[in-house]
Amino acid sequence: VAVAKPCISFAHFGFEEALMETIRRAGYSEPSGIQQQAIPVALSGRDIIGIAKTGSGKTAAFLLPMIVHIMDQEELEKGDGPIGVVLAPTRELADQIYSEAKRFAKAYGLRVAVIYGGASKQDQFKALRSGVEIVVATPGRLIDMIKIKATNFRRTSYLVLDEADRVFDLGFEPQVRSICDNIRPDRQTLLFSATFQKRVERLAREVMSDPVRISIGNVGQINSDVTQVIDVLKDDSLKWNWLLSRLSEFEALGSVMIFVSRKSGVVELTENLQNAGVNCQCLHGDMQQQERDKAVHDYKTKVFPTLVATDVAARGLDIKSIRTVVNYDVARDIDSHVHRVGRTGRAGEKGTAYTLITEKDDRFAGELVRNLEEFGQPVSPDVMKIAMQ
Ligand code: ADP
Ligand code: MG
Repeated sequence: VAVAKPCISFAHFGFEEALMETIRRAGYSEPSGIQQQAIPVALSGRDIIGIAKTGSGKTAAFLLPMIVHIMDQEELEKGDGPIGVVLAPTRELADQIYSEAKRFAKAYGLRVAVIYGGASKQDQFKALRSGVEIVVATPGRLIDMIKIKATNFRRTSYLVLDEADRVFDLGFEPQVRSICDNIRPDRQTLLFSATFQKRVERLAREVMSDPVRISIGNVGQINSDVTQVIDVLKDDSLKWNWLLSRLSEFEALGSVMIFVSRKSGVVELTENLQNAGVNCQCLHGDMQQQERDKAVHDYKTKVFPTLVATDVAARGLDIKSIRTVVNYDVARDIDSHVHRVGRTGRAGEKGTAYTLITEKDDRFAGELVRNLEEFGQPVSPDVMKIAMQ
């Protein structure tokens, strides 16, 4: 099958001047690798499985063709439901994609809404009822909105699953399937992520038709702009001193993101750090949405330098100032680890990711060693020892 050729310049995509202007204003001079390959294929109408490392510009790779797709629709005037729908696994990521979508949609005055749990249903109902061309949503709340007839998928013909493997993972799968079943089958479907286990990719292919698989670099490879440091500690009790002795050095470089596995652990570590005089806050799924929004906003605008979070912050968040990621607890699996580490080293910037490993982390250490070996990275003997036990 002939597939559209990659374009190495934004000027070659055939975008109208209005869209080119927003691209310039975003400060993008050249398309990134995934954009060079995915944009022409998306413009040709094909389904896509797009895989590229964290921070490589996947968002614009699906949003720019989406804008063109919408402008090409003849029934644009007729309906009120979204033509483009983007699904994301977390509220914060939905919000971020929403901001990007608004930026590009402004060129044509397209209406964009963001729909996620924890925020006012009434406001979202109103936003949808007043008419939209683009909806960015987490799956559950979008289904609620369809049920109460706030909107419908009659016009929907371009569907994106960002962080698709996560969106398809465990809990979300029935919801995603239900959304897909309610959107016409001749739609264009685009899936993006930096990681894609074969099992999840097989599931995901069921909602696509004859997708083009575009992968830049290796699936699951850690972005080479991130330096990985793996520190083996004798036990958990040593983590606290490790962090306290290093944190001011990290904060001097930029923002710091600390990952802890459990919500209770996030709360505890945040309190301990605050008591030790560290200017930090937390982010986890048990917080009120308003608190979550404020934490992310204040973190992005550098009101405080250090955020302690669960994996709710692991996927997709694009926060330029992050220079250091600390895996205070190891991730549940190597894919989560790849995404956590990918909160730094974005759009060509450099960053460092520290991972604290203790003897009880043997299963994770095994996965990490396999990842390091697969991509030709050095493995230290003490990590190897834990992996082998
Ligand atoms: P990904 O989804 O692959 O992790 P994002 O889409 O979040 O990456 O993009 C990462 C950062 O790179 C964002 O800040 C985005 O604005 C920026 N970016 C995207 N495309 C380009 C480009 N062509 N040139 C420069 N910066 C870009
Ligand atoms: Mg992304």
